Amino acid sequence: MHDDRELVEARLKRVLDERIRPAVYPESVPLEVAVWHAPGEPVPVAEGLAAAPEPIAVGDRWGAPWGTSWFTVTGTVPAAWAGRTVEALLDLGFDENMPGFQCEGLVYRPDGTPVKGLNPRNQWVRVGSPVEGGEQVRLHIEAASNPVILGYHPFQPTPLGDRETAGSEPQYRLARMDLAVFDETVWQLVLDLEVLGELMRELPADGARRWEIVRAVERALDAVDLQDVNGTAAAGRERLAGVLAAPAAPSAHRISAVGHAHIDSAWLWPLRETVRKVARTTSNMTALLEDEPDFVFAMSQAQQWAWVKEHRPEVWAKVTKAVATGRFVPAGGMWVESDTNMPGSEAMARQFVHGKRFFLDEFGIENDEAWLPDTFGFAAGLPQIIKAAGSRRLLTQKISWSRTNTFPHHTFLWEGIDGTRIFTHFPPVDTYNCSMKGSEIAHAARNFKDKGVARHSLAPTGWGDGGGGTTREMVAKAARLRDLEGSATVTWETPSAFFAKAEAEYPDPPVWVGELYLELHRATLTSQARTKRGNRRSESLLREAELWAATAAVRAGHPYPYAQLDRVWKTVLLHQFHDILPGSSIAWVHREAEKTYAAVAAELDGVIDAAQRALAGDPSTGVELVFNGAPHARHGVAAGAAAPARGADATTASPREGGGYVLDNGLLRVEIDGRGLVVSVFDGREAIAPGRAANLLQLHPDFPNMWDAWDVDEFYRNTVTDLVDADEVTPGDDPGSVRVVRSFGSSKVTQVLALPAGVKRLDISTEVDWHETEKFLKLAFPLDVRAERYASETQYGHSYRATHTNTSWEAAKFEACNHRFVHLEEPGWGVALVNDATYGHDVTRTVRASDSGTTTTVRASLLRAPRFPDPETDQGVHRFRHALVPGATIGDAVREGYFINLPERRVPGGAEVAPLVTVEDDAVVVTAVKLADDESGDVVVRFHEARGGRALARVTAGFEVADVTVTDLLERPLAGAAEPRREGGTVTLPLRPFELVTLRVKRA
Ligand SMILES: [Zn+2]
Repeated sequence: MHDDRELVEARLKRVLDERIRPAVYPESVPLEVAVWHAPGEPVPVAEGLAAAPEPIAVGDRWGAPWGTSWFTVTGTVPAAWAGRTVEALLDLGFDENMPGFQCEGLVYRPDGTPVKGLNPRNQWVRVGSPVEGGEQVRLHIEAASNPVILGYHPFQPTPLGDRETAGSEPQYRLARMDLAVFDETVWQLVLDLEVLGELMRELPADGARRWEIVRAVERALDAVDLQDVNGTAAAGRERLAGVLAAPAAPSAHRISAVGHAHIDSAWLWPLRETVRKVARTTSNMTALLEDEPDFVFAMSQAQQWAWVKEHRPEVWAKVTKAVATGRFVPAGGMWVESDTNMPGSEAMARQFVHGKRFFLDEFGIENDEAWLPDTFGFAAGLPQIIKAAGSRRLLTQKISWSRTNTFPHHTFLWEGIDGTRIFTHFPPVDTYNCSMKGSEIAHAARNFKDKGVARHSLAPTGWGDGGGGTTREMVAKAARLRDLEGSATVTWETPSAFFAKAEAEYPDPPVWVGELYLELHRATLTSQARTKRGNRRSESLLREAELWAATAAVRAGHPYPYAQLDRVWKTVLLHQFHDILPGSSIAWVHREAEKTYAAVAAELDGVIDAAQRALAGDPSTGVELVFNGAPHARHGVAAGAAAPARGADATTASPREGGGYVLDNGLLRVEIDGRGLVVSVFDGREAIAPGRAANLLQLHPDFPNMWDAWDVDEFYRNTVTDLVDADEVTPGDDPGSVRVVRSFGSSKVTQVLALPAGVKRLDISTEVDWHETEKFLKLAFPLDVRAERYASETQYGHSYRATHTNTSWEAAKFEACNHRFVHLEEPGWGVALVNDATYGHDVTRTVRASDSGTTTTVRASLLRAPRFPDPETDQGVHRFRHALVPGATIGDAVREGYFINLPERRVPGGAEVAPLVTVEDDAVVVTAVKLADDESGDVVVRFHEARGGRALARVTAGFEVADVTVTDLLERPLAGAAEPRREGGTVTLPLRPFELVTLRVKRA
């Protein structure tokens, strides 16, 4: 037989595009349209409905950037349409090639009931089926003219990302506002042909199934009269019934489709717009669930649910009703889909506490999976946190975005730093916006790495970010793919139903140990430095606020601010969303975040101050108390205690031969040369590599190929400028300190280097007035250390990375995340670099020709200046504190990391404060002391082994104890936990490396 396959395929495409799809709506009449443009920010629904609209015509432009326009459409169903299905087609000016990221609408009835969202691929509203004819139609549309930020020419700097700079130019042109007859038979024919046409193209050209579909498609096209598509569509469908009824092969891959809309809690739109995006999408999804009995929809991020509840009660009513059917399900169990590299230990834990608690309180539902499809890499501390929250599974597809290495598994056990293993699935469909296209389904089946031992994968299905979620077309395609020869099978399922099957079929999956590093988006550890600082500062303040408020509540009957702390925690957790903390949002988001963090700091400082004053007693004694909120004793003050301040010993700064200064405190001798660079740090052994200088600011050009705020590409290192010229090197204001001022480009840096008395630590404060673009600023410390690996702090411990680049996996980690410290060591001597606000860093090494010794260079990433999506990223003043700690053990690194983030506080008062909780082993670090969230008055203390070894935690309560329980993160008794050994107020517990424990202590 002659090969006419390509002819049939081309015929299918043209006939579908030009004849069959247009026949879905064979008749239409225009609606009357009027509009009211709300001045400024969005208005309540009632106000929008009550406004007096002006006429507007199809073809007219509308919508200043970030504006809200209330359209009213009215019309009458023609009498001639009696008995037919009629829909309103409402095209606000959508670009169907961009299913999200543009204008959107939510349709209301005149009484304010939401109907459904309007999105680029979801423009219909059912009027009646069948209609009688003569019905009056009146609908209102709350339309948001969100500008396109990421368009056809992506990553171009734009002023559109902030209402303050976006101007008022209308962004859209009203495209279609019609009543139309909907021909369901033609619509079904379109889907038959799409499913078969897309499947056909994925099948081998020499296979019989492909040819059977080719011939069936040809017969169907022959049966459709192109002059009367509506009259002949049923005949066309009949000729496809046979090939659509052929069942899937027994070995076919099995896809669990989960209806989904990945909605970024802020990104190319401000937080307030996400509230409305969620309302539109959930309106669509509750409507679709009513129409489609098999469909299942899962929504993550408790914060988004809470927004609907608070701001859109009429939508919330529909959501709660849908949840009761078991087909609209909470996914995940986190407050937001946060970044997981940067959030500190407690914040990462509280993401789960607040997320899970919301779903438990509202619905009595507890998930056992973490749902993070889009997060930019996963820290190795996460498995233990997931487990401690009562979950045991993880879903993400993001690692498929890695540019260098292909991850070897799709289903596996992920082992964290403490040995906890989490059953993990990466959907092989490689997207969180699956649309049931044949190419996606075939890719999932082909790509699945665990073939032969496992068959199931998950496909998050639906348009996110304002695309409106799953469409009826996706549901219709899934129905055809349920059991279809040549295809993977598709079944709508909840995430937990999928995981149950995946676990059952794969009892002994492979294991991946350590972080899930994303080989992309590495610059998100640095971009928008003020957002990073705000997060770190907020985390530290929350620790202090809980600690001192709990201490004051128990000791002084001071009221514990439960509601206030709950609210502030949720604000901080929201800002850890995977486009806010990473710095990848528009200017508007980061401008607001900076203000929000300032308000959080002011509020928490107030909480801390009130609690400390309640504890400190009479302020007129003339005594000043020092409060130590860190987990280790400092200057003679125990952790969590307060005692009278002591005078400090002096450190000297004396002129150095050849220029500069020498700092010496008897423990450490530091030489700063005439350029303000640190050329020697000596504690009995030299820390700085021979001939090199530390505290070296280095400036690189930084213009990645794509994703400006997200990415730094490896070639940035090829070009570097050492900022060695100093404007001034003078003694600092404090004894034992040196001030260095440098200018470069349009920017200026002022540093103070100080050697505090009594410790082996060089403190470096850096203030940068930054006015560069597309540059990367690093602070470098070339150290005389030979180490195969270095430690970076992560949640509840630290993880190691190689200092070499033997393999592509190691080479790809050229920029990585640390929390408060990095540490590297040779046997007997180590060194730490600690920080109060930076996350990105790199560690490299060279071997010196002069003495064959190894120079290991640790560099902190201070600032970038990408121009997309915020064209003014990071302009202005920034402050950082770092400290170099020579001779540091890993325990010293942990301790100094806390100290630099938790400065002592001084409060007048005469009453020394004993710690509420004391832990005897310095390897055991307390991360939280608080009152229980259930307001019972119980004291909750969380701690972990912080050095990676064994420890015996002896925890003593500074109050009368009635009972002690080991709990999970949600402060519920931990099933299967060993009873802690208790004598009076002291509990003794052996800890494994990095083991995390939460104790709930009932007061007598
Ligand atoms: Zn996302």
